[in-house]
Formats: sequence, C-alpha cells, structure tokens
Amino acid sequence: MWTTNIGQNNIAPSGVRKEKYMLNIGKIEEGFVLDHIPAGKAMRIYHYLGLDKLDCPVAIIKNARSNAMGKKDILKVECDINSLNMDVLAFIDRNITINVIKGGEIVEKRKVPLPKMIRGVMKCSNPRCITYTETNLPQIFYLADEQKEIYRCKYCDEKYEETDAEKFI
Ligand SMILES: [Zn+2]
Repeated sequence: MWTTNIGQNNIAPSGVRKEKYMLNIGKIEEGFVLDHIPAGKAMRIYHYLGLDKLDCPVAIIKNARSNAMGKKDILKVECDINSLNMDVLAFIDRNITINVIKGGEIVEKRKVPLPKMIRGVMKCSNPRCITYTETNLPQIFYLADEQKEIYRCKYCDEKYEETDAEKFI
C-alpha cells in the first residue's frame, strides 16, 4: 500500500547540499543592539523602553546561543538611542551591553550604571503603601544598596523583590 510521507517526499536528491537554516535579521543602519540580555527578559525590556509605543523596526531574538551565558536574548532597534531612557537596563541586568550602530557599524559599546531612581517601572508590593490609595502618585524606587542591587519604595521603604513579576507595571 502506498502511503504519503511528507518527510520522505521532501528529501533532497543525493548530491544536493542542504542549506542550513539561518536566522536572518536585516542589518541596522542607525540604532542600537542590546546584547547579553538574560534569556527570557527581552520582552520586559521591550516594554520598559516603551518600544511598543514607537513606530521603529524592532527585532527580538530569544534564546540565542551564547558561549558565556548558554542562552541569551538580543534586541535590535532601529531608532535614535538618545530618544529612549536606557537607565532601566542595568536594573534588569548589569551585564547587558548596548552597541550603538551608525552607518551600519558599531561605533560605541556602552554599559549603563545602576539607576539611582526608577520611575514607573515596578510597583510597590506593600498593601499599606500610599501608592495603593493615591493611585495618581508615580511609582518611584531608589537604589538603597548598590552592592546588593537593592531598590526600595520611595514612600514606604518596602524592598523590591525581582521574582514578583506581576508587580511590574
Ligand atoms: Zn511603597
């Protein structure tokens, strides 16, 4: 009996070199590439930087192979880097590298220091915090301990715990 087998029907004749599948992302002329993002955090950065509100091309590469990290995410953005606030990047991970691209070439590699203040990114988890009743107040956290990377709520001093993902605005 003859059965359909898509896999077999598609086998290339012997002698034909099989093309390796490659991820092809267009080259950026002007913009920046965020490299060494911990795997799984690219979408968070996408929202933090407000890229969902911009009209510029963005490529998100998830789980790219990395010798140093095993897996990493990469974000390629074609817009003026100076129009965005990159402070929050170091808060997500200090090892994220910003490659600034001009004329299709990397002209600068930047690392951002931990921001002293973070506004409008994460939410205070203390139910007695004033921001729970005064919802028009901006959520502000300050860097309480630079070595341990601890942030605390400006209003009630509640420590921010990173694992609590749903507390992000
Ligand atoms: Zn608070």
